[in-house]
Amino acid sequence: MKAIQVKKVGGPEALELVDIPVPQPKANEALVKVAASGVNFIDVYHREGRYPVALPFVIGQEGAGLVSAVGAEVKSVKVGDRVAWTGIVGSYAEYVAVPEGRLVKVPQGVSEREAAAVMLQGMTAHYLAYTTFPLKRGDTTLIHAAAGGVGLLLVQLAHNVGARVIGTVSTEEKAKLAREAGADEIIFYTQADFEDETKRLTGAKGVDVVYDSVGKTTFEKGLNVLRPRGMMVLFGGSSGAAPSFDPITLTQKGSLFLTRPSLAHYISTRDELEMRASALFEMIAAKKLRLRIEHIYPLQNAQQAHRDLEGRKTTGKLLLIP
Ligand code: NDP
Repeated sequence: MKAIQVKKVGGPEALELVDIPVPQPKANEALVKVAASGVNFIDVYHREGRYPVALPFVIGQEGAGLVSAVGAEVKSVKVGDRVAWTGIVGSYAEYVAVPEGRLVKVPQGVSEREAAAVMLQGMTAHYLAYTTFPLKRGDTTLIHAAAGGVGLLLVQLAHNVGARVIGTVSTEEKAKLAREAGADEIIFYTQADFEDETKRLTGAKGVDVVYDSVGKTTFEKGLNVLRPRGMMVLFGGSSGAAPSFDPITLTQKGSLFLTRPSLAHYISTRDELEMRASALFEMIAAKKLRLRIEHIYPLQNAQQAHRDLEGRKTTGKLLLIP
C-alpha cells in the first residue's frame, strides 16, 4: 500500500511516499481502507520531532473509511462499516489497523470526509468549549487563530451557546470566515496589539477565558486580558512553545487559572469518546456545525499540505485522499 513515512525527522521533505505491506489487524483491531486522512498541526510536531515518535513511522493520526477486515476478537464493527478514529499514528496511508475501542461508527447524514475532518479538531473544540471551560451565555472569550481548523469549530460552538467571541486572525480572508462562524469581534494580531484591543473591546474588564493554540507569540500577553479568576487554556504552540512560567504570575494577574490540556485525556474512556463524536456528528447532520474542508490533497502531496499548514495559508480543515 501507499503511505507517507518519516524515516528521519525534519521539514516537510521528511514526508516520504513509500510502498509498504498492508498492516495485519491484531485480534482486537479492525483494518480500515482509508477514505480520507486528516492533517493536523500535531503531525508537524511529530514530523519535526517536537513530540518524539519511534522511527520510522507512518505519520498522521486521524481519518475515516470502510472496515475491510477484522481481528478474531472484534465484536463492535464488521466488514463494510463506515468508521472514523483519531489518536492512531499511521493514518496517512491507504490502510490502517485500529483497535476496535478507538473506532466510532459514522452515522447516516455524515460523509467519510466530514467524519475525518471532525474527529481531532472537532472533539478538541468540543472539550474546550463544554468541559475545560464550560462556556455559557454572556461569557466573553478570546480565541486565537480563529479561522484555523480548531478555531472555526470552536468559534461556532462558543457562538452557539451565546458567548461573545473575540477572534484573532492574520488576514482579511480569515477575518471574513471567522465572522461567518460567529465571531463578534476580530483582531488582526499581526498588525495590532491584541492586548490593547481586547482591553478596549471589553471596557478593561477582561475576558472570562482565553483559548490559545498559538503559544509562543501570544501566551504572555493573553494572561493580561483575563478578568480576575479567568482561565487561560493553552492548548497548542503553532508559533512555537510558550515560554516557561512562574506560577506566582497567576496570583499577580488576578488569581488566574491555567491549564494545558490534551484531547487524549478528554476521550480516554469509551463513553467520553462516543459522547463527543456523536454530539459532533449530530450537529453536522443537523447543519448546526459547518465544516470548512477546502484543502484536499492527494496522499502523495502530503509535503505540500504541511507547507501550507505551517505557512499559515490554510483555513479550516486539510484532508489527504489516498
Ligand atoms: P490551524 O489550522 O489552527 O493552523 C495554525 C494557525 O495558527 C495558522 O493558520 C495561523 O493562523 C496561526 N498561527 C499563528 N502564528 C503562527 C505561526 N508562527 N506559524 C504557523 N501558524 C501560526 O491548525 P490546527 O487547527 O490543526 O491546530 C491548531 C493548534 O491547536 C495547534 O497548535 C495544535 O497543536 C493545537 N491542538 C491541540 C490539541 C489539544 O488537545 N491540545 C488538539 C488539536 C489541536 P493566522 O494566520 O490567522 O494567525
